[in-house]
Amino acid sequence: MPDRPTVHRFPAKHRGAFVNAYLVETESGLVAVDALLTFSESRAMRHALEGLGKPLLAVLLTHSHPDHYGGLTELVGPDEVPIIAPQGVIDTIVRDDPLKEQILRPMFGDQWAAERTFPNTPIADGERLDFDDAVFTVIDLGPSESPYDSPWILGRDERIVFLGDQIYDHKHCFLGDGFWEQWLANIEKLRARFPSDAVFHVGHGGPVGPDAFDWQRSYIETFLDAVSSADWSNQEHAHAAVVARMKEYLPSDELQFLMELSIEPVAAQLGLGK
Ligand SMILES: [Zn+2]
Repeated sequence: MPDRPTVHRFPAKHRGAFVNAYLVETESGLVAVDALLTFSESRAMRHALEGLGKPLLAVLLTHSHPDHYGGLTELVGPDEVPIIAPQGVIDTIVRDDPLKEQILRPMFGDQWAAERTFPNTPIADGERLDFDDAVFTVIDLGPSESPYDSPWILGRDERIVFLGDQIYDHKHCFLGDGFWEQWLANIEKLRARFPSDAVFHVGHGGPVGPDAFDWQRSYIETFLDAVSSADWSNQEHAHAAVVARMKEYLPSDELQFLMELSIEPVAAQLGLGK
């Protein structure tokens, strides 16, 4: 028996992967963390799950964004299992799903599930779940990267954490929900909680360590400064200036569309733009 439960990351072929989900393999079963976005990737994750030959025990959600719950229907399949998140995550998903349908259907077509499955089991902050040798503890963060976020700690020594999107591993970030103040505060709260050798399994890229909090904080601050200092008398030019500044900070186009989707909403929230 291994010292720790095995963590499998999906999609298995990781080149150019958009978003991660995980299966934690315990002695007698599998606990999923998140569910990917697309039909084909979540179906492939389901096939891999079946190939491991152990039952799915539960699904845990790290936050309310559709790239993490959209694949639930395929992942869960015919299993009747608890899909667990704080009530705030559940309420946000139920509230925002019709809007996500409008945004994602044109972008992803049939790859965005026709019938979505929602979390069905609320959990309170700090509550613990035991699955054989795997002990999970949820952190109810409230608004952060998404309107409601809930990282999960694996193990009593708090050295393995499914952080969701609190840290993006050197990829462009989504700030369009506008909770950056809470996000920055949560970065400090999480930084203080975990040891320097903690392993963070994140929603995009990774795994990373606590040093990645610095990169994430700077990304958020650079983005806010780029939006604030752009000349919003011309929206197109302002948008381009923010993109240029962010690509200077991170010379990559990975998830650039998430950053671009955030520019106008953040400008509006700051009282800039139209
Ligand atoms: Zn995400």
